[in-house]
Amino acid sequence: LEHPSDSDRYCSPSGQIEDAYCLYETIEDATSNLYEPLSHLVHTPFFRYFKVDLFEECPFWQEDSLCMSRDCGVETEEDESKIPHKWRAQALSSLNDVQDANDSNHPACFARVSDFCYTPDDSSPSGVYVDLARNPERFTGYSGPSAQRVWDTIYKENCFGVADFFESSGRLQSGVAQVSQAPPSLGLLTGAGGALGAGQPGLEPGFDIDLDGENDMCVEKRVYYKLISGLHSSISMHICSEWLNQETGEWSPNLDCFTTKLSQYPERIQNIYFLHALLTRAVARARPLLDHYDTSVGDGIADALTRQYMNDTMDRVTACGDTFQEGTIFDGGPGKQILKEEFKAHFRNVSRIMDCVGCDKCRLWGKVQVSGIGAALKILFGLDGDEIKQPNTLQRSEVVALFNTFHRISESIENIEVFRKLYEARKTGV
Ligand code: FAD
Repeated sequence: LEHPSDSDRYCSPSGQIEDAYCLYETIEDATSNLYEPLSHLVHTPFFRYFKVDLFEECPFWQEDSLCMSRDCGVETEEDESKIPHKWRAQALSSLNDVQDANDSNHPACFARVSDFCYTPDDSSPSGVYVDLARNPERFTGYSGPSAQRVWDTIYKENCFGVADFFESSGRLQSGVAQVSQAPPSLGLLTGAGGALGAGQPGLEPGFDIDLDGENDMCVEKRVYYKLISGLHSSISMHICSEWLNQETGEWSPNLDCFTTKLSQYPERIQNIYFLHALLTRAVARARPLLDHYDTSVGDGIADALTRQYMNDTMDRVTACGDTFQEGTIFDGGPGKQILKEEFKAHFRNVSRIMDCVGCDKCRLWGKVQVSGIGAALKILFGLDGDEIKQPNTLQRSEVVALFNTFHRISESIENIEVFRKLYEARKTGV
């Protein structure tokens, strides 16, 4: 396998994806095979409805810059009959269980020990159903200090200090619940203190690590960074692919946007492939569970189609082979276990930072995709060989988020080809 390098073709990374165990070319081929069934899958009734609370307050600072653009709005599902009865019944029966949620800071959200994320689910008493297919992720106009602050804060979560602290002081413990003796700056792990990220030496957005020269950073930190940067790149890709021309009112790809936000930073493009490699492996690993997952909504024809698209997608994912080796991460003694708990705590913080996004549509897709990546991390690092066979280890919302995120990232890779063609056309004047 070759080291990653940019080939002569515009925006075409080639060779091995660092920290994943496959080639850029493998991911491109895989994407072109699985994109079609996956696109059908996310339009089925089971996968298109996501329950979400868009009015949760930002727990870290006062967020008052609401996006007034019409394109920031989310259409929620008013017609209750479209929501299968069993999902609604789950919400009713869980009303009394809310006090049992294990995160007292966030009563509407549940997180089990294996969870890398706070994912809203059908049993949350708050929240509304959103039809994701009717609310596409695209340009909304959300930008400026509010968006910048959210990205800044997310990148600053890439500061891992607890493992070093416990290792150096010899007090190795397990689980974030026990970090009460940690240094005061670690209040950010539980979101306490309101100054999340302030003064932390995390990675600034735009840092765009030069991975060739970055040997000091442990693989777990690199993985964290690449996941966040890959998500950021994918969001930028959808903004540029579905850009609103304010003069004509038309939605179309914008090559200048793509150049400014993505193509002039090759590592941002590479991180989309990395994220795809990790998601592909997570879906493959969860196949025993997903093959038996109940995706029925009570409509025989729709249910059979959902199963068919699911099988087609899974077959193509399995055909890719191993795209990521989860066994090499968090491997190597108690310090790495602490690091894993820390990684989990930081990623959970990212899911809560989504409540600080000042544009409903961006918040919706931010929540879906952070939940999807969180589900993938849970599958790879949180579930053992037996658990991965038990369908009830993943909630419906986690499965929905996982596949919708997989679809978003796959579409980003598909769109690279769209921009290659636009670039060629501009260059040759055709
Ligand atoms: P930003 O994208 O805001 O980036 C901030 C800084 O981060 C850049 O200056 C750069 O230094 C660095 N950076 C940029 N990309 C990367 C990368 N891939 N890796 C590492 N560093 C990077 N807007 C929409 O129109 N539609 C949406 O659906 C949408 N969803 C959003 C979801 C979330 C969670 C957030 C926080 C914002 C969302 N936005 C959305 C806003 C959008 O992401 C940008 O913030 C906005 O378009 C302004 O872009 P910018 O070019 O100023 O830089």
